[in-house]
Amino acid sequence: MSADIAANITAIRSTLPDSVGLVAVSKFHPVQAVMKAYAAGQRVFGESRVQELTVKIPQLPDDISWHFIGHLQTNKVRSIIGKVSLIESVDSEKLLNLIDNESRRAGICTRVLMQVHVAMEDTKFGFLPDELLQYFTERRFESLTNTHICGIMGMASNTNDTARVESDFKAIRRIFDSILAVAPDLRGFDTVSMGMSDDRDIAVKCGSTMVRVGTDIFGAREY
Ligand SMILES: *Cc1c(COP(=O)(O)O)cnc(C)c1O
Repeated sequence: MSADIAANITAIRSTLPDSVGLVAVSKFHPVQAVMKAYAAGQRVFGESRVQELTVKIPQLPDDISWHFIGHLQTNKVRSIIGKVSLIESVDSEKLLNLIDNESRRAGICTRVLMQVHVAMEDTKFGFLPDELLQYFTERRFESLTNTHICGIMGMASNTNDTARVESDFKAIRRIFDSILAVAPDLRGFDTVSMGMSDDRDIAVKCGSTMVRVGTDIFGAREY
């Protein structure tokens, strides 16, 4: 990886099939870094904290698509509704229903991904696979009026064991396919967001349609 953000983006893009989207994860990096990526043609950025996101948005070009990728507290939903093009990290039905209510109140439609938990760490948020499949089998999404579920997001275990990482990504992809099998009439349900700096090649091999890359674009984060 080089210190040149534009070169990093070009290098990463060249390894991704055209059908796989690239989310540049800019959390903890300043707006100047985002602008370097923007100048290289990148338009989709991911942030994981509401405060940081809402400070960055007004300082940056309007044609950026912002993805929210962190745990979203229910009391913060109203702050980001209408400002982000995709909430990738819906990790409970309560949060989903709140997003729907707030979107209805604002008169907009919010696009979301359902976050599924397959990793071995028990600290990561998300629906358990069975829970998620049940949600779709029971067609509970039919109660949503102002939310469009576009697919699922997941993370692999944080380990050097590539076999485990691969089996996690395969599990995420399998859950996506199972959801489509139980609800084949779902429209625009086409996104499998998985893969980060260290594991994106494995994720793409396992059927990712969207990778979220921070470190390999912007360098290490200083927390
Ligand atoms: C920070 C973060 C990323 C990017 O991680 P890198 O290892 O820096 O590429 C991807 N997805 C989520 C959900 C994140 O929080």
